Amino acid sequence: MFGFIPGSSLLLSAVADLISSVVNSYTGVSFVAPAMVALERDVLRWLCEVMGMPAGAGGILTSGGSMATLSALLCARTERLKGDPANARIYLTAHTHYCVAKAARIIGFPPGALRSIAVDAAQRMDVAALRAAVQEDRSNGLQPLCVVGTAGTTSTGAIDPLDELAAIAREQDLWFHVDAAYGGFFQLTARGRARFGGIGQADSIVLDPHKGLFLPFGTGSLLVRERDVLRRAHSASDKAYLRDVADEDENDFADTSPELTRPNRGLRMWLPLQVHGVAAFRDMLDDKLDLAEYACARLSGIPGIEVLEAPQLSIVVFRCLGAGVSVTDANLATDSLVQRVNSGGVAFLSSTRLGQRVVARLAVLNLLTTAEDIDTVIGQIAAASSARYNAACQARSASA
Ligand SMILES: *Cc1c(COP(=O)(O)O)cnc(C)c1O
Repeated sequence: MFGFIPGSSLLLSAVADLISSVVNSYTGVSFVAPAMVALERDVLRWLCEVMGMPAGAGGILTSGGSMATLSALLCARTERLKGDPANARIYLTAHTHYCVAKAARIIGFPPGALRSIAVDAAQRMDVAALRAAVQEDRSNGLQPLCVVGTAGTTSTGAIDPLDELAAIAREQDLWFHVDAAYGGFFQLTARGRARFGGIGQADSIVLDPHKGLFLPFGTGSLLVRERDVLRRAHSASDKAYLRDVADEDENDFADTSPELTRPNRGLRMWLPLQVHGVAAFRDMLDDKLDLAEYACARLSGIPGIEVLEAPQLSIVVFRCLGAGVSVTDANLATDSLVQRVNSGGVAFLSSTRLGQRVVARLAVLNLLTTAEDIDTVIGQIAAASSARYNAACQARSASA
């Protein structure tokens, strides 16, 4: 499985879920299950620490990155919006995950509030273009509200220049949101840390433990720089039926997230971290980076295949190419290569679009993926590529 963002599932998380389902601890308010809530807070504190957020940071575990993004934009809106949401501007790129557009729409920003900023040749947000857009919007009486940087885009694993985005956000009073749903846990590795400089300066970060921490689906997270923001964004008063709940903990998850009754999400993350240790996760993630580099090197050796650039994380993008082939023909050839590989039933790839170009993606993130699996998928790609080449030659000689 090399398509989309591959998932995994840890046995110990399944064990934790069994315990959670049987005990059925209620984690919406801490006085009902103080130990379970403390344990979830512990996991969140660890996440904040890993991402380099300051003391005073906090977070919530969610069902996934999309829901975490919804809460993140709600925080941005609550803290920074002045006036009409239609006049606000949220800056992103063509490669920003569409959950940002969904979230913006759900919380009342019209589509025009999203402004797409150009990307550079490596698909990263162009900082000069961002600066110009912010200035232009401000001089037109609009409110630059938020900039969304991505630490590992879903398409290609591109990493926006986070430290420069942080500087612009600070200088222009923008909320700085980082979508690290796919890439965030590479921060555990030395290579990830070196590439994510500036991430700890974000006002909010979305991380998906069900991607980079190999947990079962249904585990996302939102971290915010200032814990109280979550409560300001999510709490509501007037709940007579909850008057017997001691209001002793103002940071109950029920008041800092959209949910009241919620599954116990802390234990499924806490248990594997305790048993395997953080180093095991770091090694796994390092291994995925190695495998992507290996796949990149092998792909570069296949005639008729062009690798677009060295992987920024664990996704390699490539396309079919031949001298004098038009973009349209290269796109058709790349589509047919992906179809040919996938119809073989051995390996699965997916594709994306970079501007006018269709590119195939090979995404490595499953826990069990090994170098042998890379060899297998490379074999499939090479065979599909030469079959395509032979078919093209036959067509050419037939028409001649
Ligand atoms: C997967 C992904 C999301 C959405 O997260 P879900 O957990 O699928 O809701 C958001 N952003 C990026 C970069 C992603 O890869």
